[in-house]
Amino acid sequence: MKYKIFTYGCQMNIHDSEVIAGVLEKAGYEPSETLKDTDVVVLNTCCIRENAERKVYGRIAQLKYFKQRNPNFTIAISGCMVQQPHVVEYISKKLPYVDILFSIKNVNKLPELIEECRRIDSITAALAGNSDLAENLEVKHTSSIKAWVPITYGCNNYCTYCVVPYVRGREVSRLPEDILREVKTLADEGFMEINLLGQNVNSYGKNLDKPFDFPELLRKINEIEGIERIRFITSHPKDLSDELVLAMKECEKVCEHIHLPVQSGSSRILKKMNRHYSREHYIELVNKLKDAIPNISITTDIIVGFPGETEEDFLDTLDLVKTIEFDSAFTFIYSKRIGTPAAQMEDQIDDEIKKERLKRLMELQDSITKRKNNELVGTVQEVLVEGESKNDAQKLSGRTRTNKLVNFVGPKELIGHLADVKITESHTWCLIGEAVN
Ligand code: SF4
Repeated sequence: MKYKIFTYGCQMNIHDSEVIAGVLEKAGYEPSETLKDTDVVVLNTCCIRENAERKVYGRIAQLKYFKQRNPNFTIAISGCMVQQPHVVEYISKKLPYVDILFSIKNVNKLPELIEECRRIDSITAALAGNSDLAENLEVKHTSSIKAWVPITYGCNNYCTYCVVPYVRGREVSRLPEDILREVKTLADEGFMEINLLGQNVNSYGKNLDKPFDFPELLRKINEIEGIERIRFITSHPKDLSDELVLAMKECEKVCEHIHLPVQSGSSRILKKMNRHYSREHYIELVNKLKDAIPNISITTDIIVGFPGETEEDFLDTLDLVKTIEFDSAFTFIYSKRIGTPAAQMEDQIDDEIKKERLKRLMELQDSITKRKNNELVGTVQEVLVEGESKNDAQKLSGRTRTNKLVNFVGPKELIGHLADVKITESHTWCLIGEAVN
């Protein structure tokens, strides 16, 4: 039996798909090359933006063709989309050829669900997740060099535009001993980089019986032999403590990069977003980070066209981008999500205005990214070499400690090692270089 997984959305979903693959392979499934030779397709979905949902529906429509030709072809859907009742209802009514909808918390039952799918009365039967977080599941890592390790699940923040707390549930932290055991095993298996994952890693530990916070977790992981680099994503500014800044500065394995979503440069809009920090507070945090770690790279997420955003609010965002000089930014047009408070707000922004603001923001950020990347030309950077470059088989590819992608000329033996790379050229999305050791 062969399987194929399509993954949409964030790093958490990418990791969840590694677990889905691990569970299926343990049950004897093998990955397939093409849809034609596939028995089970799993769509691991995202609902953060309308566009993500649209892509999933497009894929489901394509799968109908394979289902019609092979009734044993099984379509299973998991991820955030199927945690929304209106989506479940829509799929049940309009897309009856979908076989299984399952909560990622039930991933360990997937092989038996596939076996039984024709006998399950309701295709939503596997959606009710047990509240226990599965530990010790098989994971099929997509890389043998860097690994994703979830430390929290869910979110308690209820930003007014965001659907995540409704679909992923309340925040739960994994036990530190489970995380540390997993990282130790990964180090023993040869993984060099650990990426700690959570919707808000900075609030790690708040619900644990025994106090244990995120800076402490970083310090413990920093002691694990074999791990060369530690990264984490995502950080909420409201929970970024002085202790965390100190831990980042003092732990030599913690990379000089933070992804710190600001979302807007207007304090008024941040309040409407329920973000619990102001523009001034955000700037203060960035200054603390830059003082403690002078070469830190700072990346962010920004939404344009949030309900009620005036031209003045938007100019505040542009001004903040100029002030902070982010290394790069993921920029988005605000997208209405059913069930969120922002979707009910009356002062929705016209699509044309949103598009025009996004264009201005991207132009500004691209010019800053280009300039900052250009400053690295002529320097030597430590790169963790991950493999061959996707776009140029003659080159290797990896990332600097500051999380910049570098494609460079060097011997293949460097794959899986740290290499010194001289930067010779810069682009907006990557740096070009040559190995010097
Ligand atoms: S912190 Fe806000 S934006 Fe991030 S997942 Fe939680 S609710 Fe969504």
